Amino acid sequence: MKVLVTGGAGYIGSVAVDALVASGHEVGVLDNLYMGHRSAVNPQASFFEVDLAERSAVDEVMGSFCPDSIMHFASNTLVCESVREPFKYLGDNINNAINLIDSAIGHGVERFILSSTANLFDEPETVPISETERIVPGSPYGESKYFVERILHWAHRTKGLRYAALRYFNAAGCTPVKGEDHDPETHLIPLVIQVALGQRENIKIFGDDYPTPDGTCIRDYIHVEDLAQAHILALDALREREVLHYNLGNGNGFSVKEVVETVRAVTGHKISAEIAARRSGDPATLIADSRLIREELGWKPKFTDLNSIVQSAWDWHQAHPHGYGY
Ligand code: UDP
Repeated sequence: MKVLVTGGAGYIGSVAVDALVASGHEVGVLDNLYMGHRSAVNPQASFFEVDLAERSAVDEVMGSFCPDSIMHFASNTLVCESVREPFKYLGDNINNAINLIDSAIGHGVERFILSSTANLFDEPETVPISETERIVPGSPYGESKYFVERILHWAHRTKGLRYAALRYFNAAGCTPVKGEDHDPETHLIPLVIQVALGQRENIKIFGDDYPTPDGTCIRDYIHVEDLAQAHILALDALREREVLHYNLGNGNGFSVKEVVETVRAVTGHKISAEIAARRSGDPATLIADSRLIREELGWKPKFTDLNSIVQSAWDWHQAHPHGYGY
């Protein structure tokens, strides 16, 4: 297939591009490089440095590359920032998605895969969280993704666009050639690794008074390569199926303290940790029930334990201590 990947210079998008290229697809990457890295783009992909806010530029890419499918990763993604700057999220993420989806439909795109989020489930009634859980977005970020899911619902109903909404839990880990390099970095595993590398004095644990066994938040960490494979499977499934919603995680939760302990064990470094105030927008526990995609599409994560996920991240960060800047 001919797949346009927005955000294909970013953390998860760049790994998905590698997986698409490896599966024999023709790939175009659309990225404004605000957060992404040009050197993270697979050399076999065509590259378009375009901002999704520029509708005419998006139309030009559609007209010249002529994709039949889209994977949409490009967005503002930080829960905490979205609580401080709600309209950046409710504005950019939604308007950019409308530009992309409307343009895609106008240019005959048949399939669309959305990076959605576990932040749709702020108050789960049942954990692990399945696709039938009621949707209560936990932040303006989560709300923006929910809006985009609804836009896709109407794009399907009115224009026949087939789509998959893949709701990731906590993307983590690195491939030997692609890693996590955000500026500023806010995610737990790369931050703890920065302490191990001597680039940061300590890790602040945001809250130890949550209703969890050790008081720190529990998350379901899922390797980027496994996420990328889920995208490939969804793309294929959309030949037959019209609408897919899947929750993507390992089904195991780890507390912040357990993550810090795992990084200590993997790296052999003593890592200093300090309890700090809660971070706004963080739910206590997020664990995915991913049985549906396993049963329907045969998805089988390769990285099932936290150790191997952290080890893959440690390997990449050791080899690239300054990320893509070297
Ligand atoms: N966290 C933390 N200290 C940090 C960064 C993150 O205690 O410096 C916690 C955060 O509050 C959350 C978990 O680690 O409970 C995972 O956060 P991350 O930002 O990696 O992903 P999120 O769950 O926000 O998508």
